[in-house]
Amino acid sequence: MGRIVIALGGNALQENPKDTSAEAQLKTCRNTAKFIVDIVESGNEIIIAHGNGPQVGQIVSTYEAAAQQDKSIPIMPFPECGAMSQGYIGYHLQQAIRDELRVRNIKKEVATIITQVKVSQDDPGFLNPSKPVGSFFSKEEAEMLEKEKNYVMKNDANRGFRRVVPSPMPLEVAEEKVIKTLVEAGHIVITVGGGGIPVIEEHNILKGVPAVIDKDFASEKIAEILEADMLLILTAVDKVAINYGKEDEKWLDEMTVSQGEEYIKQGHFAPGSMLPKIKAALAFVKSKDSRVAIISSLNKAKAALDGNEGTRII
Ligand code: ADP
Ligand code: MG
Repeated sequence: MGRIVIALGGNALQENPKDTSAEAQLKTCRNTAKFIVDIVESGNEIIIAHGNGPQVGQIVSTYEAAAQQDKSIPIMPFPECGAMSQGYIGYHLQQAIRDELRVRNIKKEVATIITQVKVSQDDPGFLNPSKPVGSFFSKEEAEMLEKEKNYVMKNDANRGFRRVVPSPMPLEVAEEKVIKTLVEAGHIVITVGGGGIPVIEEHNILKGVPAVIDKDFASEKIAEILEADMLLILTAVDKVAINYGKEDEKWLDEMTVSQGEEYIKQGHFAPGSMLPKIKAALAFVKSKDSRVAIISSLNKAKAALDGNEGTRII
């Protein structure tokens, strides 16, 4: 029993990537809530973080398409799209978890915090924007957006041009005191959705920036801030593997920090998917002696907490 930050991967929100409807997302969230409330029922305090890739992409693309059709519709800035995705996903998760708590007669409340995460203007990520967001554009449209909107556009695997944004590291969570207060009062908080809305602080003023903070790194940050005992990263695989997808693939029950660092050097973890999870897990475990991280799937989460599933990073 303890305080656990649960980082939900994309598959916990959208089961079928082809069905991006709100109905499908709510249905998936209702299923996800069952596994989450199992963890609450065993006496743990939980904080939920989640991704937003497909959802923020959908919001950005919809505004872009509307603006192309009707010039009077303004393009929605990226930080605002991130805020909308936090609200949209948070709404589904908080409703689903609330209802599941009620079904089981657990007297707990759940709420989403629109979360801003401070990043540094000097983050090296700003020098090399690489995370594609939104729709595909023609070369001519891309050039116009670069001129008029200051976007950085890149040819995405010859499928067309897409806007790319930087991926800076999270430094601080602007709402950390509010989150702490709610957690300490026994409430379930959904926070740092999509890694949080990236903001830069200048002379005490926060300004949203077009960027994407990796949700695995933001989850690690909030876990440290809340002095959690565990970071539980739930994704599409039950365990972490070395030689993933190869003939000599080996699924790991346990991984020490030094093994993890060695495996990173040997290139076992794909950048952009498993690598940030491993880095987040290692950072959390290194931050204090008693801290543990587990990487597993939603279905196996309970078994992973009991030590019978998942990869435990120690
Ligand atoms: P999420 O939405 O949970 O962040 P990602 O797709 O970003 O999901 O990352 C999870 C994926 O990482 C898995 O589905 C798997 O295909 C991939 N992956 C890459 N390297 C490994 C590895 N070494 N062991 C296990 N899975 C890996
Ligand atoms: Mg991911």
